[in-house]
Amino acid sequence: MAEAAHIEEVPPHLECAICWKLLLEPVSVPCGHTFCQGCLAQALGYRNVCSVCRAPVPPGQAVNVLIRSMIAEQYPRALAHRRQEQQEELREADDNAAAQRREEVRNDGPSDEALILPILRSVKFALPHSRVEHDTSGQDELVQFALQGGRRVCSLPSNEDLGVCMIIEDFRPATERQHSSFVRLVSKFRVRLIEPPQLHEDGFEIGRFEAMFDTPLPLNDLVVESISGESTEEETASAIGYQCIELLDRQRGMLGPGALYAFAEQCGEIPAAFRRRPGTLTSADLEQLSFWLLGAIVMDEPGRKRLLHSTDTRDRLAACQRKMQAAGPRCVLNLPGADSWMHPGQSSWTSIVLLLVVFGLLVAKACGLFDQAFGRQRSLPLRFG
Ligand SMILES: [Zn+2]
Ligand SMILES: [Zn+2]
Repeated sequence: MAEAAHIEEVPPHLECAICWKLLLEPVSVPCGHTFCQGCLAQALGYRNVCSVCRAPVPPGQAVNVLIRSMIAEQYPRALAHRRQEQQEELREADDNAAAQRREEVRNDGPSDEALILPILRSVKFALPHSRVEHDTSGQDELVQFALQGGRRVCSLPSNEDLGVCMIIEDFRPATERQHSSFVRLVSKFRVRLIEPPQLHEDGFEIGRFEAMFDTPLPLNDLVVESISGESTEEETASAIGYQCIELLDRQRGMLGPGALYAFAEQCGEIPAAFRRRPGTLTSADLEQLSFWLLGAIVMDEPGRKRLLHSTDTRDRLAACQRKMQAAGPRCVLNLPGADSWMHPGQSSWTSIVLLLVVFGLLVAKACGLFDQAFGRQRSLPLRFG
């Protein structure tokens, strides 16, 4: 309490009307009200109106440097106290997100123990937080084993010890009509083999894994503006993340409706935490964004592999940012058929032409061209013997 006595008394007009604390990175909106940048971002995530008077607030409001420097000059100790408070809030949010992830790894199993997962061999690396379909013909025992347990498998490329833990969302066994069986999987987190896999009596491999996450980011990296308050030379990981989203939107702007749809089908939407600008992000949010970007951008195989093995979220985000910046007006999005890392030489134009051909076929089908040609065959009754 002795220290608290030294903190200056802050007049109410310098308090944020959302958190009722000293304004931190103050932003003045057109109606004249002023809020902390983080508080405003969070409030605007719900509705684009001022929290006090409900007047509309356009996005992209800058910090009011006049108010900020006035607070820094007149209330230095209150400001330092406020910044420390913010650091603690950030740390708490980040710790909570990390605990949630550990809970996900545990999946009702005992904690601090290796994960035992059946191994689904794959040709290429699956990205964490993505959805894939996998042909599991001849591997029904493996799928059944997973379904009886926690529905989890490890997708692991040959000669690799780094895979991804996946959850089976749907299983379609082979039928008389459909000779292959398929699983739809949602990938969760990376896992590393800790000893050579064993052969299960039902003929599939099973391995002991440990979960692998990126190193948690320093707190300063979790806010868009550097916490120190001064404009630093280095951007925060959050700022790089948002720049990547802007660059990606510019890339998407180059696509027509058909290619846009195909891109969304292939890569899914931007992770939920980034669809609207939240007040604070966690290391887990930024890691998820970095993997989503890695899947959304065409990248050469060695570079991609390095980033998959890396535990540095910031480095992964910066690599995606560089790739899109270097592309300029060229499209580097991972569209169906681009199959980026397997055929690095193939341009995205090839996939656009392919898309046009598919679209043309669809139009032909809609016009009934195929029905005319095959209509008679189809109407023949199928009777044998
Ligand atoms: Zn506030
Ligand atoms: Zn207002």
